[in-house]
Amino acid sequence: MADRYDIAIVGSGPAGISAAINAKIRNKNIIIFGSKNLSAKLYKAPKINNYLGFPEISGEILKKEFEKHLDKMNINITYERINAVYSMGDYFTLMVNEKVYESTALILATGVEYTKSIKGEEEFLGKGVGYCATCDAPLYKGKIVTIIGYNNEGEEDANYVSELASKTYYLPMYKGEYKLKEKIELLNGKPIEIKGNNFVSKLILNNREIETDGIFILKDSVPPGQLVPGLLIENSHIKVNRNMETNIKGCYAAGDCVGRPYQYMKAAGEGQVAALNAVAYIDSLKKL
Ligand SMILES: Cc1cc2nc3c(=O)[nH]c(=O)nc-3n(C[C@H](O)[C@H](O)[C@H](O)COP(=O)(O)OP(=O)(O)OC[C@H]3O[C@@H](n4cnc5c(N)ncnc54)[C@H](O)[C@@H]3O)c2cc1C
Repeated sequence: MADRYDIAIVGSGPAGISAAINAKIRNKNIIIFGSKNLSAKLYKAPKINNYLGFPEISGEILKKEFEKHLDKMNINITYERINAVYSMGDYFTLMVNEKVYESTALILATGVEYTKSIKGEEEFLGKGVGYCATCDAPLYKGKIVTIIGYNNEGEEDANYVSELASKTYYLPMYKGEYKLKEKIELLNGKPIEIKGNNFVSKLILNNREIETDGIFILKDSVPPGQLVPGLLIENSHIKVNRNMETNIKGCYAAGDCVGRPYQYMKAAGEGQVAALNAVAYIDSLKKL
């Protein structure tokens, strides 16, 4: 059986980190999932003028300050990408491929994806289009798979998929050095449309067409409605009340994923509100 944490936090941007710090201060057993760079939107910011106490700080330095704070509080980020979360009534299961984590309360702090979806992406979701290559790779054994990677984590997934697929294409949506196995064909160009009948059969790029059986689109974050089935979404954001409660009991959300304005201070403040309410929720269960 998986260990059950009091609170699981998905996302390591300012919202998730602030939630983690506040829950830890309240003595809760927490786990926070995220990435080594904490948040691409944090370290890429050239100059930040609206984070209280840090005028004109660069995102890179603010990220280092956040890391120091995490270290001081003995909080380690678990560098894993949650693929799906299921509400089991009085607890949650969080899936990382075949691995499972459990928590009593959940805080979603996954940020938002600025990139637009590709024409056909939603239509073919579950019919050849997926967001988790490592989860669904076995379905494509001996078939042609295309991976569209928005960050270098996609390279690892492409290498894994290429062990099973008959042919693997990799389309990077970023610049850099690509650490790919030799048998993977690197594409360049822009994805324009996903086509097929009942199932995906083609990816149309601006410079060529690819015959493909499956397409994995790997972004920093997946749409929250995909991550947590049953979660209420309004205008592309997770619907929350002033306590940062979602429609699912024990599930809170904070930061860009709940709506505009997209700002660090607002994200951190909401992370704190979410954490304190999650703490109150856990304490109320113990009193029952
Ligand atoms: C270039 C740039 C400059 C900016 N400048 C400013 C500024 O000057 N001032 C300001 O206030 N705001 C600024 N912003 C906006 C600010 O970056 C965001 O509002 C803020 O980062 C939101 O924080 P967040 O915690 O909600 O999400 P994010 O910072 O986006 O963090 C979310 C994290 O969750 C992780 N994650 C997502 N899904 C999963 C999953 N399934 N499993 C595990 N981890 C997951 C992501 O990888 C990411 O690390 C800027 C943004 C950009 C892009």
